[in-house]
Amino acid sequence: MSHATKAAEFNKNEAKVNWHDKALWYVREKRDKSAHNVQGWEYLRQLGSKIKANVLSNLDEYLIQFEANAKKNGIHVHWASDAEEHNNIVNDILSKHNAKKVVKSKSMLTEECHLNPFLESRGIEVVDTDLGERIVQLAQEPPSHIVLPAIHKTKEDVDELFQEHLGTTPSQGNPEYLVGEARKHLRDKFLNADVAITGVNFAVADTGGVVVCTNEGNADMGVHLAKAHIACMGIEKIIPKEKHLGVFLRLLARSATGQPITTYSSHFNKPEDGKEMHIVIVDNGRTEQLSREDFRASLHCIRCGACMNTCPIYRRSGGHSYDYTIPGPIGSILSPGKDLKKHSSLPFASTLCGSCSNVCPVKINIHEQLYKWRQVIVKEQKQPMVKKSILKTAGVVLSKPGLYRIAGKTARFMLKNAPKFMIYNKLNAWGKARDLPEVKGQNFDDWYKKRQKNG
Ligand code: SF4
Repeated sequence: MSHATKAAEFNKNEAKVNWHDKALWYVREKRDKSAHNVQGWEYLRQLGSKIKANVLSNLDEYLIQFEANAKKNGIHVHWASDAEEHNNIVNDILSKHNAKKVVKSKSMLTEECHLNPFLESRGIEVVDTDLGERIVQLAQEPPSHIVLPAIHKTKEDVDELFQEHLGTTPSQGNPEYLVGEARKHLRDKFLNADVAITGVNFAVADTGGVVVCTNEGNADMGVHLAKAHIACMGIEKIIPKEKHLGVFLRLLARSATGQPITTYSSHFNKPEDGKEMHIVIVDNGRTEQLSREDFRASLHCIRCGACMNTCPIYRRSGGHSYDYTIPGPIGSILSPGKDLKKHSSLPFASTLCGSCSNVCPVKINIHEQLYKWRQVIVKEQKQPMVKKSILKTAGVVLSKPGLYRIAGKTARFMLKNAPKFMIYNKLNAWGKARDLPEVKGQNFDDWYKKRQKNG
């Protein structure tokens, strides 16, 4: 199903769409205020982008340095070329510990690898401990946003969900009550977990440690209570030195939620006494993306979600319409590299307004990459006949000024005088939800000529 078809589903509930749009715009505005409070914000973005470019150019060296330092700290390091290998490695570690209960803090990589269903099919209970993640897990849905996974749910939806799964009493969506109940429910899961799995925000090559950012402290709670910690990371999470955290931690929290820093920025550098720590380093298509010159900068991404919050298409179509682990503008440039056929509609789900590139803390040229993917897709895939002939005709008309003027005159005449059904019909997808602009008395060309004639 294309993005447009899925978006049409989301758009059926107009009130929810408006609320979703507003909620994300509120986060975008918080990001703006927070960023403007930092002197040299643009310099920070530049620095972040340059450090990431350096990492991608020397990725092999940094990864080997990271592995060596992590091992020195007593951490077990594993390498996985794809999702299957990643899942098998995690499963082997769990089997070694005879683990049947796992708590997991937010990790988009494990979502990408579909780790939960893989482990659940082997009789292991996996509990997502980030509140938003737990909500979508109970609803048996994927996250719809990388930072705000349950942003598509209202507090009333959550109330109903908790009544059904946690046996809570109806509270008309009282957030304090619901959070308190979630806290009790998760406490029990933390206390009984055998192993904790976390994602990784940054892996520091010169220390061999990893940094995990959460607002709820759930990663720390899981890791400190379980007997083993498995941290799963994509190869692009490396940063060269610990001092570079000063750049990325400032950029990440402000861009994600407008906070000056995430509540917990936890450093895991070695296993606790008597416990085990594992890091699984995963490729899963990243090396291939690195080899695509036009698209390699997409690997700079620090998963802040700012491009989603600002995107007019994302805000009004919802994360699930992208049908990919990472939705929104960044997902639309990552997903075609994974499966061009399946995700070919995503680069077209954009106005190319460039707002995503403007807010991206590591200066990824997102809208330019969207445009480049469109060119690849048009070359590689058969396009619908109607679209092809319209574009061909447009090409001819736009390259011949005389023809362009005649076409303009005809269009203006039609817009003014043609019966409505000739303009608003099935062929005009644009007109389904919008009115075409009102035609003015005179076009620019006529106005200009008249002006010249009158001196
Ligand atoms: S592409 Fe940029 S703005 Fe979007 S999630 Fe990644 S870092 Fe954030």
